[in-house]
Amino acid sequence: MSRFFSEKYASLVPYTPGEQPKEMNYIKLNTNESPFPPSPKAVEYAKAEAERLQLYSDPECRDLVKTASDYFGVSENEMLFTNGSDEILNFAFMAFCDGAHSAAFPDITYGFYPVFAELNGVPFEEIPLKDDFTVDVNAFCGVNKTVFIANPNAPTGIALSLADIEKIIKSNPDNIVVIDEAYVDFGAESAISLIHKYDNLLVTGTFSKSRSLAGGRLGFGIANEALIKDLNTVKYSTNPYNVNRMTMAAGVGVIEDNEYFVNNCREIQNVREYASEELQKMGFELTSSSANFIFAASKNIDGETLYLKLKEKGILIRHFDKERIKNYNRITVGTKEQMDLLLGAIKDINEEIV
Ligand SMILES: *Cc1c(COP(=O)(O)O)cnc(C)c1O
Repeated sequence: MSRFFSEKYASLVPYTPGEQPKEMNYIKLNTNESPFPPSPKAVEYAKAEAERLQLYSDPECRDLVKTASDYFGVSENEMLFTNGSDEILNFAFMAFCDGAHSAAFPDITYGFYPVFAELNGVPFEEIPLKDDFTVDVNAFCGVNKTVFIANPNAPTGIALSLADIEKIIKSNPDNIVVIDEAYVDFGAESAISLIHKYDNLLVTGTFSKSRSLAGGRLGFGIANEALIKDLNTVKYSTNPYNVNRMTMAAGVGVIEDNEYFVNNCREIQNVREYASEELQKMGFELTSSSANFIFAASKNIDGETLYLKLKEKGILIRHFDKERIKNYNRITVGTKEQMDLLLGAIKDINEEIV
């Protein structure tokens, strides 16, 4: 830390992104990216837009908002786009949290929530998951804080029903409830349909996972007009051109090519079920995942050792140091071929250790 770094960030511990190694051609099953390239239509639109990069992007993202709001069945003033959904999550902490509205989220969830809370000086409560790693719905009911829930949750992959989500929203009428749907397309129910029923609901989503656009950085928020207006106030006070031209164009292409998206999601779900069964046969304990990753603990080998041994073999998975989940690893669902290589490597490791 330099002697110039602001006092207010002195104790800030930044988010640790999954490794993005350059030096070796790893099979990357560590950051929940899609194993499939972006839709050809997205690539075509982005390329065409590259010719206009001398011009600022449209701060209102009008073309994209028009296409996307239609797709999600909301009106144009009920959504906004951001530079990845990490940005809208930060905007939500900025807009809807303060001393009177502190934050609440599960103890095991997306690692960025506590970082954004710290960054914005927002006190927060971490509500423990139940012993079976499900979100403790009753503990969030009437908690009277700004609630952040990833549904499905990460890194467990476990989804809450829409009825449970609605209970949490309904029981906190004086606080915003943010439902982070980064993984919703892999098997959970979206809460978007509730935005007109509850004025305290913000749903966030991303094009990074199911839509193969992690490197494009495109996220969004859907909520009633008043909340979107608040979020825009924050956006226009930080970075009005937050979504670049190429990404905006790619986003339109992704939505227009819905069949490609649907097929990829279905394939990931099929491969997830296949790999889950094989892992269970090899003595792994798994949560029931509705996401594009598997959360698994081996009965034979501790989480960190498995992570390191797989890395030696050229396969990256995600390990977390947190005490409660240190025996688990989060494994992104890749292609069938990638998962077969993973399963083969784990089989070899199991044989090495006996
Ligand atoms: C990946 C992820 C995000 C954000 O991803 P972006 O690439 O910033 O859109 C948000 N929430 C959860 C739970 C995630 O796993």
